[in-house]
This record gives sequence, C-alpha cells and structure tokens, in this order.
Amino acid sequence: MRISLLGAPGSGKGSQAKLLCERYSLEWISTGALFREAISNGTALGRQVAPYLEKGVLVPYSLTMDLLRGRLSARHDDFLLDGFPRTTEQAKSFTDINSFDHVIFLRVHDEVIVSRLSSRYVCSCSIAYNLLTKKPKQDLTCDVCKRPLYRRDDDKPEVIRLRLAIYHQETEPLIKYYKDRGILLDVDGSLSINKVFSQITSFLDG
Ligand code: AMP
Repeated sequence: MRISLLGAPGSGKGSQAKLLCERYSLEWISTGALFREAISNGTALGRQVAPYLEKGVLVPYSLTMDLLRGRLSARHDDFLLDGFPRTTEQAKSFTDINSFDHVIFLRVHDEVIVSRLSSRYVCSCSIAYNLLTKKPKQDLTCDVCKRPLYRRDDDKPEVIRLRLAIYHQETEPLIKYYKDRGILLDVDGSLSINKVFSQITSFLDG
C-alpha cells in the first residue's frame, strides 16, 4: 500500500501516520522529520534547510526532491509519506519516482489547528502530545521513550499563521489534484485520533 497523508500543519498527520504504519506495516517517511534529523545531526543538508524550517516556509523544490529520491525509489511499495507532496510541482515530479494508491486528506478548520499547535509538545522520537487533548502520563516526558518533550520552534503563534497561509496557497490545490485522479479520501480530521483512525481503516479495509 502506497499512501500520502495530506493536511495542514497540526491536522494530525503524525498521529495517524504512526497508527497506520503499525497496522499496515508501512515505512513511515516524514520529510519534515528527515529535515529536522539533518539539522540536529549538523549535516550539510541540515545547515541548508535550517533557515526555512525556522521561518516556517517550504524548503526549496530541488532540496526536497533530492531528499525524497534518496529515501524512496520505484522499488518501494509499502510506504506512507507524511508531509509530501506539499506543492503541485512536487506532486507532478513524484510520478517519476513512484505513485500513490490513496491520498488521505485530514480536513481541519484553521481555528482548531491554531489551538492544537499552540499546545503541542513533541518528542525527538516523533511522537506528538497535546496538553489539552493528549497529555503525556508524566509531566513533559514521552510516555514511550521517556525523553523530555519540547515545543517545535515553528509552533510559535506568528510562525503557525505563516505556515497555515503557505498551506492554503501551496498545498490545498493538491486536494483537487488528487480528487481528479480518483484517489483522494477526505476525512474529518477534527475528530479524536481514534475516530479519525477508524474512518481511515474502514475505508482501507472495506
Ligand atoms: P512538518 O514536520 O511536516 O510540519 O514539516 C516541517 C517543515 O519542514 C515545513 O514547515 C517545511 O519547512 C519543511 N518541509 C517538510 N516537508 C516539506 C515538503 N514536502 N516541501 C517543502 N518543505 C517541507
């Protein structure tokens, strides 16, 4: 199964990615997580992309495509892309690398996004928590790996607004793009993590 998760920042892509990858044994490829890993490892790519992530704007096309090509080829057939594609240009180029069986769009209103991201804490193992709706069991510590949780630099209110504006301008046209190709699953992403997951699995299993 070849899947892409589409949605605004904070629409729950990471939470659904984790559950879907466990259930269907998919390889989880998050371009954002790969960029953050490159930054924390201090690689040349990390140094190049750090200013973009800090500002909350998209990493240039060629750097993103190079990263993806290094991680995925036509041979892969069980994967979930989280945060890619984010532009029509990326979507078109992806057809030279591989293809999707399903693109799952998590539909969430901007007000819900802003409130979710303002209370989001994450772990370096990629699990996200929310102090309002998905609290860690112990104060600001990851339930799974016990490392301290932190706030992403790009979850500051002014950066959140910019990321949302970029999402509407650059990424939203992909909803129509994939709908026209008959592979879009449009899901109400404002529901609880478990409800969203069961909507998706009943479609994929049905
Ligand atoms: P995410 O973890 O998906 O929210 O991504 C964090 C940041 O990584 C984004 O704000 C962008 O700066 C960058 N990024 C992730 N995926 C892409 C992509 N497909 N194209 C361009 N930039 C990306």
